Amino acid sequence: MKIVVTGGAGFIGSALIRYLIKNTDYTIINIDKLTYAGNLDSLLEIRHSTRYFFEKMDICNKDKLEELFLKYSPDSVIHLAAESHVDKSIEGPQSFIDTNIIGTFNLLSVSLDYWNSLKSNKKQNFKFQHISTDEVYGDLNVHEKPFTESHPYKPSSPYAASKASSDHLVKAWHRTFNLPILITNCSNNYGPFHYPEKLIPLTIINAINQKNINVYGNGEQIRDWIYVDDHVEALTMVFKKGNIGETYNIGASNEYTNLEVVKMICEEFNIIKENSLKKNFNFSLSVKDYNNLICFVKDRPGHDFRYAINANKIKKELGWKPKETFSTGLKKTIWWFIENIDWWKK
Ligand code: NAD
Repeated sequence: MKIVVTGGAGFIGSALIRYLIKNTDYTIINIDKLTYAGNLDSLLEIRHSTRYFFEKMDICNKDKLEELFLKYSPDSVIHLAAESHVDKSIEGPQSFIDTNIIGTFNLLSVSLDYWNSLKSNKKQNFKFQHISTDEVYGDLNVHEKPFTESHPYKPSSPYAASKASSDHLVKAWHRTFNLPILITNCSNNYGPFHYPEKLIPLTIINAINQKNINVYGNGEQIRDWIYVDDHVEALTMVFKKGNIGETYNIGASNEYTNLEVVKMICEEFNIIKENSLKKNFNFSLSVKDYNNLICFVKDRPGHDFRYAINANKIKKELGWKPKETFSTGLKKTIWWFIENIDWWKK
C-alpha cells in the first residue's frame, strides 16, 4: 500500500509517518513545501527506511501534483499540509487561503482525475483522508455540550475559516463526484516535535530559557488537549476502518484553561528543579518559583473561549481510545523538550 501524506514534515504529519513506518508495511510518500513549520529532522529515525520517500512540493502547484501521482501511483492520500497557526492567520491570512483552500482544491482535483483513471480493485480501495480541526465549529460557553460531528460550522479565525472551507470542499467532492473521502476533526494536540509557536512547547521552552511565559488575556480560555500519538493512532484507525464519506471527531476529554496548563508546566519545572541535584542539565534552573515567569498579555482578537470534543462516535464505531492522560502526556512532552534541545534550537 502506497500512501501520499501531505505535510509530513510538520508536527502531526511527522508523528503519523513515524508511526506508519514503524507499525505498518505501508510505503509513504511525504510531500511537503517545508515552510517554517516543516522540519525533516523530525523524521530522522525513519528517513533510511526503503518504504519512505520525500518530495519537496507545494500543494498549490497542480502540475507538480499530477506528476507526483503519475510517478508513484498511490493507493490513498492522507492530507495534513496546512498553515496551522491562528496568530499568523490574523497577521496575514493569504497563505492560509492559498494552502488550506486552493491547495486542498488542487489535491482534490488531481486525486479525482487519478481515481477516475484507476482500474477496479485499486479504484475500490482508494481513500482521500482529510485532517481537520475542531476550530471549524467555533467556540462553546461553559454550559454547552462538547462538539459532535453534526455541530454547525461557525469558524472564528481566518485559520479556522480556511479549514472549514477545505472540509466543505472535501465533502462536496464526495457528494458530487463520489470521491471516497474520510474527514477527522481533532482538538488541540501537544507532544514531541511541536513547533515552538504554540502554547505548550513555547511555555516549556521559555521555562527552560528562564524567560517570561506569556498568557493571552486572563488565561481562562479552555482547550481540550490530546497527546499527538493518540491522535495518530486515531487517524490510522479511521484510515483502516472508517466508513467512507464519514466524519470522525477526535479528542481525549482533557479540558483545561490555558492558565491551568501553564501552571502545570511551571509546577513540573519546580519539581525538576528540586530534584536537579541528582541530574546534570545543560541549562540553568535558577528560577525560585517558575510560576513567577507567568505574564498576562493583551488578548488575541476574536479569541475562542472554549473547545471541547465529543469523541463517542470514533470510540463506539471504531473502538479507539486515548492511551495518555494529560498528566502523563505533559510530563513526556516536557522531558522530550529538555532532552532534545538541539531539535528546537535549530
Ligand atoms: P504544522 O504547521 O506543524 O505542519 C504543517 C506542515 O504542512 C508543515 O510541514 C509545512 O511545511 C507543510 N505545508 C504548509 N503549506 C504547504 C504547502 N502549500 N504545500 C505542501 N506542504 C505545506 O501543522 P500540524 O500541527 O502538524 O497540523 C497538521 C494538520 O492537522 C493541519 O491540517 C491542521 O489543520 C490539523 N490539525 C492540527 C491540530 C493541532 O493541534 N496542531 C489539531 C487539529 C487538526
